Amino acid sequence: MVLKYIYGPIKSRRLGLSLGLSLSPGKICNLNCIYCQWGRTVESVCVRKEYADPDEIITELKSWIRENPKTAKGLKFVTLSGLGEPTLNTQIGNLISRVRGLTDCSIAVITNSTLLGDPCVRKALLEADLVVPSLDAVDEKIFRRIDRPHRGIKLDEIISGLIAFSKEFRGKLWLEIMLVSGVNDGIGHINKLKEVIRRVNPDKIQLNSPVRKTAEENVLPVPRAKLEKIKKILGDKAEII
Ligand code: SF4
Repeated sequence: MVLKYIYGPIKSRRLGLSLGLSLSPGKICNLNCIYCQWGRTVESVCVRKEYADPDEIITELKSWIRENPKTAKGLKFVTLSGLGEPTLNTQIGNLISRVRGLTDCSIAVITNSTLLGDPCVRKALLEADLVVPSLDAVDEKIFRRIDRPHRGIKLDEIISGLIAFSKEFRGKLWLEIMLVSGVNDGIGHINKLKEVIRRVNPDKIQLNSPVRKTAEENVLPVPRAKLEKIKKILGDKAEII
C-alpha cells in the first residue's frame, strides 16, 4: 500500500517508537523556517481547513495497524505532525479522538504554536497526551528572521496562546526551541526567552539545533558548549535533544 499520511515508525530517544501521521498530503505551513527539513514553504497559508480527508487518514492508519500488528503493539506514540503544521487542519480534534479509538498508545501533537491563540485550536488539542509546541524567538525581529511567518501571524498572540494552553491542558507539555547559531542563541535573547518560558511553565524545555539538511544554506548548529550554557540558563527542565 502506498502511504500518503503515515511515516515511520521512528525510534527516538524522546518519544520511543513513534508512528508519524501527517495531516496534509504535502507541506502545508504558515511558517517558512530557515531550518525546515522539508525545504522552503512554497505557499505560506494561514487559513484553517480540511487539508486532508480525515476518513482517508484513518483508513490508512487502520490498514497499517492490520498489516503491522507486532510493530503496532510496540508503539509508544502516534504523533500528529508531519509535513507542515498539523493544527492548520480543522479536523485535528476529530482525528485525535479517532486515533484514540484505534490504538492503546499515547497521542502526541507537534505544533509550531502559531495557532494556539485560537481557542478552537486549543480545545482541539486537549485530548492529546503530549503536546510539543515550539517557540524559537520572543523578539519580533529574531522571530521574523528564523521562522519567516505568514504576515497574518503575530508573535504576541503566539505567546499568549501558549500561556493560555498551558493552563487549560492536562497532558504533558514539552516546549521545543530550535537554536540556530548567530540567529536566536544570543544570551540576551535566551534571558528574554527564559522569562516567557517561566509564564508558560512547560514540563520540559527541549533544546534542539539543526543537524539535517535545512531549507536555507548556512544554517549552522549551535556548538555543544554553547548549548550547555543555554541549558544552564534555562534551568532544570531544560535538556538538549
Ligand atoms: S513550522 Fe515546521 S514544517 Fe513549518 S516551516 Fe517550520 S519547521 Fe517547517
